[in-house]
Order: sequence, then C-alpha cells, then structure tokens
Amino acid sequence: MGKDRFVLYNMRLFDGETTGLKEGMAVLVDGDTIEAVEEGWSAEKYPGFKAVDLKGLTLLPGLIDNHVHITVPFMMKVTPRAFLDLNRQIERNFRVCIESGVTTVRDAGSFPRKMRYFRKRVEQGEIKGPRVLATNSAITTPGGCPDWVPYFNPVIKAFIGGQYAERPATPDQARKVVKNMVQKGADWIKIYYQSRSWLILGGDLPVFDRKTFQALMDTARQYNKKVMCHLVWLKDLKYVISMGVNTTEHTVLDEEIPDRVIDDFIKNDMALHPTLTILDLGNKDLWNEMDNYVNSKGRTFLEPEPFRQVKEHFDIYLRRKFPPSIEECRKNFYMDISLIARGYDVAVKNVARLHRAGARVGVATDSGGSLMSFFGFLYPEELKRLISAGFSNFEALKAATSGNAEILDMADSIGSIKKGRLADLVIVEGNPLEDIEAIRNVKMVFKAGRLMKGSIEA
Ligand SMILES: [Zn+2]
Repeated sequence: MGKDRFVLYNMRLFDGETTGLKEGMAVLVDGDTIEAVEEGWSAEKYPGFKAVDLKGLTLLPGLIDNHVHITVPFMMKVTPRAFLDLNRQIERNFRVCIESGVTTVRDAGSFPRKMRYFRKRVEQGEIKGPRVLATNSAITTPGGCPDWVPYFNPVIKAFIGGQYAERPATPDQARKVVKNMVQKGADWIKIYYQSRSWLILGGDLPVFDRKTFQALMDTARQYNKKVMCHLVWLKDLKYVISMGVNTTEHTVLDEEIPDRVIDDFIKNDMALHPTLTILDLGNKDLWNEMDNYVNSKGRTFLEPEPFRQVKEHFDIYLRRKFPPSIEECRKNFYMDISLIARGYDVAVKNVARLHRAGARVGVATDSGGSLMSFFGFLYPEELKRLISAGFSNFEALKAATSGNAEILDMADSIGSIKKGRLADLVIVEGNPLEDIEAIRNVKMVFKAGRLMKGSIEA
C-alpha cells in the first residue's frame, strides 16, 4: 500500500490537550504520522496532499479504552455452536471497537493464542481493529476471582486459545506465569485481587499471599512491565497500594476511600479505571436501554450463538424471577445485583473524590468482560458517567485521549493531534465538548493514517 498524504480542513478540532475547539485549522497527514497542524488551508499551500473537507464535523484524537477483553466472545457456555462462532465473534469485536472510534485498547485478560492470532491479523491489515496492548492471561490465585471463570480442561483450552486466568499457588509458579505471559507478548500484567465475591453465594475468596504477590510484582518489574489490578473493596485497595501496582481496575464499592489512602494513591503515581457503567447494574433504565439495543441492533455486533446467549442472559436478569432460587444459584453463577447496586453511589463518590484530589482517572469500559459489555455502546456511557462524577466534558475527553495515553506511557505517540504523533483520528458529527452524545456519531476513523471507517473520496 502506497503512502497516503492528505490534509483535513474546515472542521472543528479538539487536539486532546487544549480546552475548547479550534476552528480554521489544517491537519496534514503523511503516511502514518501527523506531519503538521497549522492555521489556514488552501490547495496551493499543500501540493501533493489530498484535500478532505470536513465541514460541520469535529476532529478528535482516536479514543483509547484502557480496559477491554477483546478476545472474549460474549459466551458463557461452551456449546457446539460456540465453536463455530468463536473466531467470527472475536473478529467482530475488533471491527465494532474501531468503528466506534476507539483506536487503541489495553486488554485486561484474554486467551493468549487468540490474542496473538488476531493482533497479527490486525497489524497486517487483514482485519480492522484497534492497536492492542495485551496482558494475555489474567493472573489470580487458585479459587480466586474471577470465580465465575473455570480453569479450562486441556480440550477446551486448546479450542479456546489458552487459559483466561492462570492461577499460580506459589512464588515460584507466579514468576513462571509472569515470564510466560511476557514471552507470549504481554505489554502489561493483569492480576485479580478481590477478597470477597460479587456473586450470589460467592462469599469470601482466596487472594495472593504476600510472597506470591511480591513475586508477581518483582518479575513484572524485571521485564519492565506495569501491573493492572482488578479490585472493588477498600481493604483490597489499601493492600495493593502497599504492593505497588500501577493501575486499579473498577473502583471501591463498599466504603468511601479515606483521604490518606487517596494521598498514597497519588503519591504512588497510580491511575484508576473506574468502569462505572458496568457497576451501574441497579439502574433499570440502563438495563432496558441495553435490552433494546440488543433487540434492535444485536445482530450487527453479535454472531448467532453469542446473540442467543446474550438474549438468554438478559432474560434471566430482566424477565425471570431474580434473584433465582438458592438451588439455581448453587448450579450457576449470578451477579449479586443488589450488592453492586448498593455500591454504585459509593463508587461514583469515590471517583469524584479521587478526581478532585488530582488523582489520574482513565477511561475504561470493560467491553467484552461480560454478556452485557458491548463494544461501541459502553464507551459513550462511561464518558457520561464520568461527567456525572464531576468531570467537565473537556476533562472526560482529555482523559479518553491524552490522559489515557499518559497512563499507558504512550503520550509521545498517541492521544493528541500534534506534529509527530501517529495519525489516529476520529471524526464525529456535532460537538462532544457541548453534548457528549455526539461521540456516538462517528463518521470517519483513521488508525495510523489508514482509513478504518468512512470515505475520503470527494
Ligand atoms: Zn475486566
């Protein structure tokens, strides 16, 4: 493929860093890179650049999602049909993700062989998808959270592309697992640390002992990898701060985070990815909105078997008697909706307090992480909820772009529209700095200068 040179002009520009929209700017792209951002445009000024008139549209840096599960295929049950739809669904996740304007994701747990295969196909341009920072398998302790994810037997493991969660029991095993993930191409290490389940009948859960946790941290550091950590309880947050993890995933649901803990969080230069939308399960409106979304558009982002399983999931939570009987709960895994619902307001308050105190808060959706975490749908929802937690539209969009890039240590290549950055660009209708819903109206997407959605033909 030849090197494309084009100039975008006549739009409003949000550069990812500066408040407000700039008008009358021209953004020049040469190959994969932003060559210049300058005022004014005329055809004579840029010979050799294809001119793209973006009249009435807003140009933003490609959005970044700091927590997804892009190889998880929206299926909880391994049925015969699941085998047929697995790869097609993963491919769809990649495509839906980038077509919604998300050009970079950090994956928070996957099936390593699937990750390697699809990442390669995306890099080679065979399928459309975002740039992926991988963790490969997540790491937890035997019997620990995610307590709803089985340790797969060799047959299923072979089919599904590896173990979703590796479960080392000793410091030695912990070192081996981290090393193995890095050798398989992990950019980050993902661990779970949740001492009490959020499932009905889940109860207390085992977590890493200090030596095993230390072994994970030391090995990650040895390979220059940072650590992201799933948690939802205050006690667990305090503990993982003391262990030196870099980002925390979801947020504390049970108590307000005390000021001194927030101070430690900031002092350690940590970042929080609240994933508020997936914690907003007590919100009937959200459930109904998602249900309508599945019914009207489900077949555009779900293959037949995932579609069936998602529908079944919604039926259980929305239309059958919930919570189910104790016997049912012993046989299957059900989220304790009322427990999470009670924690939601606490979670929002905690995010607001961390943000006000100056802590780094990133944008992350957990897309793919459950049967209701839809790519494309969740991202605008998450921005809305950050705004309800006190972010201005500007702060939310900055977090989504340059803020997330900084957390990923990639701010010198992505997250802003500046000379020398990769040309990850999203073009939307409307003005998301005034109305965040505009972020849903994605017209065009470029990843490293390559068109992923829309058209630049006149
Ligand atoms: Zn997750």
